[in-house]
Amino acid sequence: MLRQPFRPRYSVLLAPGLIGLEALGLMAARNDVMRGWTVTFLFLVATDLIVLTLCCWRAQRAVSLQRHWVLLAISVLMGAIALVLRGWIYLSSLSAGQPTPLQVDYTDFLMILDYVPTVILLSHPSGKPYLRSFLWIDSIQAVIIAYLVFVTLFDVVPFTYMARHPVSGDALIDFYNNVDIAMCAILVLRLFAATTEDERRFYRLFCWYMFVDTVLIALHNKIAGQLPYASYYELLGVVPNLFFCILVLHLPRERADTAKARFPNNFADFLNIASPVIFTTALLLMSIQIARHYFDFGASVLVAVFVLYGLRVTVLQRNYETAQRDLQQARDRLEALSLTDALTGLANRRAFDRTLETEWLRAVRANRALSLLMIDIDHFKALNDRYGHQAGDRCLAEFAQALRAALPRRTDLLARYGGEEFAAILPDTDRLGANIVARTMQESVNQLRIENRTSTGRYASISIGIATFDSPQGDTGGFLLQAADRALYAAKEKGRNRIEAYVEDDVFDTGLS
Ligand code: GH3
Ligand code: MG
Ligand code: MG
Repeated sequence: MLRQPFRPRYSVLLAPGLIGLEALGLMAARNDVMRGWTVTFLFLVATDLIVLTLCCWRAQRAVSLQRHWVLLAISVLMGAIALVLRGWIYLSSLSAGQPTPLQVDYTDFLMILDYVPTVILLSHPSGKPYLRSFLWIDSIQAVIIAYLVFVTLFDVVPFTYMARHPVSGDALIDFYNNVDIAMCAILVLRLFAATTEDERRFYRLFCWYMFVDTVLIALHNKIAGQLPYASYYELLGVVPNLFFCILVLHLPRERADTAKARFPNNFADFLNIASPVIFTTALLLMSIQIARHYFDFGASVLVAVFVLYGLRVTVLQRNYETAQRDLQQARDRLEALSLTDALTGLANRRAFDRTLETEWLRAVRANRALSLLMIDIDHFKALNDRYGHQAGDRCLAEFAQALRAALPRRTDLLARYGGEEFAAILPDTDRLGANIVARTMQESVNQLRIENRTSTGRYASISIGIATFDSPQGDTGGFLLQAADRALYAAKEKGRNRIEAYVEDDVFDTGLS
């Protein structure tokens, strides 16, 4: 098991310590309703803030789950704000001597909002590429859904006084219990969609917390939910938060390897693909339902749904096109790389073979001359041995540049044929033209004056074999290659640093040594 070396010595004291403190506070405020509720709210908010701090702490050291912890922190923060406002309203009404009975108000909407980040997490499995703009669009959709759920269930438009029916305390308690159960179900689904070890741990923790929270809060609501004073049952309210703190403190630290260990997960794929449809369908159904009572409101939501969906599709399309373009560019780059020699930047053997075939067939079809030069550096082994392999590489690169500069036409191709051998394909070039090119190459290379003292001379030189077919025939350029090779061999035989040309069944001396 991957465990961080965290010593939970003090953290386990946190939970009983805080519960004990709250119990003392409630005992002290036994005869004072106002103080009792103040103690209750204070401890609820305090434990919310501890949870918030822990979420921020985890987000800061997260490897792959930063989004998860941040969304969770936002959810806790919204819950805490709703709690403070509710506490404020309730305590004010108490001090005014008119305690308001449990009824729905805008703080309930804030309470529902704190489930929104969890819904967003559900629709964005980690380990899947996602777009930041999608996160925003889905967040807006989830907030609208929360709003519509609220209006549909309570027939109250939050932040307005458009309540059509008063909502009973029992209905409100039922609602919260049901939302908690729905959240448990969502989290279990999300656990199944986890794609990494860390994500599994995160959702396992979240599930345990949500189970405990659902049971204890339902219990609290049933026994003490509508009591006019703060009883000891209020202690149940802080237990889930403290339980969550202990779980978080014992959660192993995320590491690069655990963040990456991927599980193939079809369910995660399904969520990824289906979430926009789920959101939009939910919104459509709800806005139609709402439009029956609040037409303008429902119709505006319908328009918003279409705009958001359109936005999502547009972003997706743009992204798809960008990805296609990038892919094509990457493919082109790879293709170019696979045809280029890394050291000299010339065409490599593959490119040479391909070009020779096409040029050969073209020459056969058009009945035009085709020439091939095989070029080999003389005594290159000696240069390598004397000056080192790196000097050899530099020599190869410089020779390559010089040889390329000697080619007169853009249609000519110079390739690194292998080791210290080059080959030039000269389409539409007769024997005379090929001789001129070979001569130019030899001169360019000689001008480089790269030291290599051998029996051939003081500087590194090349031998060139020329093959020209004036009226090429047949399927492949293999003969041309063989011919140029034979001419090169002859040039080597005759003492190197010279040019030899192949003519039918014989190699003749060009006199261009
Ligand atoms: P010759 O005049 O008969 O062509 O003699 P040579 O020494 O040039 O020919 P040989 O075939 O005996 O040696 C070729 C050398 O080229 C041997 C090999 O180590 C060297 N070589 C091949 N590829 C590279 C390379 O990429 N870099 C360097 N530095 N050397 C290379
Ligand atoms: Mg060689
Ligand atoms: Mg050589």
